[in-house]
Amino acid sequence: MPDNNTTSEQTGTSSGKPVVSLTRQSNYNSQEIKDAVVRLLAPLGGMEKFVKTGDRVMLKPNLVRACKPGVPAHTAPEVFRAVAELALDHGATVKAGDSPGIGSAAKVADNAGLTPVIKELGIELVEFTPRDTFSELRQFKKLTIAAELLDADVVINLPRLKTHGQMILTAAVKNLFGAVVGPRKFEWHYRAGENKDAFARMIYEICMAVKPELHILDAIVSMDGLGPTSGRANHTNFMAAGTDPVAIDSVMMKILGREPLDLYTIKAATEAGDTVWQNANITGEVIYNLRPAHWHWPKTSELAMVNTPLFESYPILKKWFRHIAAVFPKVIESKCKKCGACVNICPAKAITLKDKIEIDYEKCIRCYCCHELCPHDAFSTKGGWLSKFLKLFSRHM
Ligand code: SF4
Ligand code: SF4
Repeated sequence: MPDNNTTSEQTGTSSGKPVVSLTRQSNYNSQEIKDAVVRLLAPLGGMEKFVKTGDRVMLKPNLVRACKPGVPAHTAPEVFRAVAELALDHGATVKAGDSPGIGSAAKVADNAGLTPVIKELGIELVEFTPRDTFSELRQFKKLTIAAELLDADVVINLPRLKTHGQMILTAAVKNLFGAVVGPRKFEWHYRAGENKDAFARMIYEICMAVKPELHILDAIVSMDGLGPTSGRANHTNFMAAGTDPVAIDSVMMKILGREPLDLYTIKAATEAGDTVWQNANITGEVIYNLRPAHWHWPKTSELAMVNTPLFESYPILKKWFRHIAAVFPKVIESKCKKCGACVNICPAKAITLKDKIEIDYEKCIRCYCCHELCPHDAFSTKGGWLSKFLKLFSRHM
């Protein structure tokens, strides 16, 4: 982590402004990607500013769960390879790890195509183990996250740009939710419940506790629609890098044509007093030139209102509003293999498996863990009439 004597170049800032480096990249050719990463890191001082001989580097790819081949849910192997090779070239000992929502890191790395790269480069893939810690913010008295991330000299976060059913978008900040080990993720989802702002505060605080030195984002082929695991490939054709994850995410929102503060994690960061992202120095490419021709946001409905005193005082009103406004998960019975994984995943214990999967919508907290983690993509979403009306209305605004 940077100490007080580091220069602005070393910390990836320009005159105190966080640098967000962008570059076009439209294919997964290994050499081209390595060149692209070198290009991305040049304005930040190059890999040598982050990695020194003998450093223990931990790469944190996005390994959400095993998905069908070709689904852009994970950090692409070529991006992983390029960053790992550069860190090795600078004399580091490199490890990689993540805590998938379902399955081991090894199993998901295999599915994501990382295993051959890991073997070829002699990198150790670690399964995360939990340790109690806290961030400087201390909004949460205790955070239980991966010891391996806390112990590394240098953490390099390798997110992939994807929509997210619950949190709108997953990029640099949200990828650090993988620091929460295994089933504890579902516990956090439950504790945050329908309050996305609370969940975002927790994700932001985890990101601050891990404090990766560098973030390199794969947006060559991104995922839109029903992300983060069941969406569509969108060839967005770029990569991004920086030291400030909130600044990177704010630039992603702008590229995708939305206000940064629409993203819960950016709102959480701002409310915690982190506002430097607003002065990001964007270099390499112009935001407007990277905007995709089409980008499909996930179906979500804003239910912040159900947490207001009015609705808290009138539970029947709250129940009715929830019924007409919420977007809930729905099982696609023709795809369901009755494996029971969603029953175990659901933090609200809202799913049962008898002859078929049933969801108790009174208990469901709309965390979309089932939708995200069903190994057979057997979940879709359904909205009440108000959510459908609002969606239609917003299209014509
Ligand atoms: S919905 Fe998915 S996770 Fe749940 S039982 Fe069916 S296949 Fe398994
Ligand atoms: S049913 Fe799905 S969305 Fe609802 S609480 Fe359970 S896992 Fe979350």
